[in-house]
Amino acid sequence: MAENGIDLGSIRRIFITHAHEDHLSEFEIENLRDSCYSHPKKGEPFNFYGSKPVLEKLGKYVERFTERDTLPVLNEMSHGRTVEFDGYRVTSVHAKHSENTGPLFYIINKGDKTLMYCHDTSYFPDDTWEYLKSHPFHADFISIDCTAGNDPRDSGSHMSVNQNLKVRDRLTEMGIMDDSTIFCLNHFSHNGYDVLPDELEPILKANGIYQSEDKKVFEF
Ligand SMILES: [Zn+2]
Ligand SMILES: [Zn+2]
Repeated sequence: MAENGIDLGSIRRIFITHAHEDHLSEFEIENLRDSCYSHPKKGEPFNFYGSKPVLEKLGKYVERFTERDTLPVLNEMSHGRTVEFDGYRVTSVHAKHSENTGPLFYIINKGDKTLMYCHDTSYFPDDTWEYLKSHPFHADFISIDCTAGNDPRDSGSHMSVNQNLKVRDRLTEMGIMDDSTIFCLNHFSHNGYDVLPDELEPILKANGIYQSEDKKVFEF
C-alpha cells in the first residue's frame, strides 16, 4: 500500500471469494473501519460482493454499523453473475471448495486486460468449465490456488502444482490463456509439500509459470 501509493480509504468495492476466516473476517472489517484506524469518507457507499453465506456473515457487521460510517451495501454474487462499474466487468463463477462457504472465484476485466482470481478452489468444477467454454475470453493474469505446493494428492478443496498444470493445459486448449498469460501460483500453506520458494522454483521454471512472492511486481 505504501510502496504503490494506494489509499485504502478510497476503496469502495470489495469482492469476497468465500466465507472462510482467512478471506473474510467481519471482526477485522468492523475494527479496521473504526475511527481508531480509519477515516472513511462519508456519503460514498462501501460495496461488498459475495455469495449468500458471505453476505450472511457480513450482515452481522452491518447490524453493528455505526453512524460515523456510510452504510455498506451488500451485493449478492452467484455462478455466472456479472456486475459492471467504472469501466470494470466482474464475473463470479463457482469454485470447488467447502460448499457451505459459498465458494466463488472472479474474472475481472477492464479495457483489454483480464485477471482471473482463482482462490480458494480445487480443479474447477464442471459448471465453471462449461461457463468458460460458452463465454470465451483471453486472460492476461491468472492467480491460482496452490495451497498444497508439490503434494501429489488431491485434497478436493485446494490445488497443488499437478492440478495447476492440468488447469493451465485445459485453459490453453480452450484459448483462454497462451504464452503471453502470466500464470501465478498463490495461497501456499505450511501444510503443503515442498512449498518454499526455492523448492518450487525448479518445477515452475521448467513450466514457464510463476509463484507469488512478497514485493514481486508483475507488469501486464
Ligand atoms: Zn477457504
Ligand atoms: Zn484460503
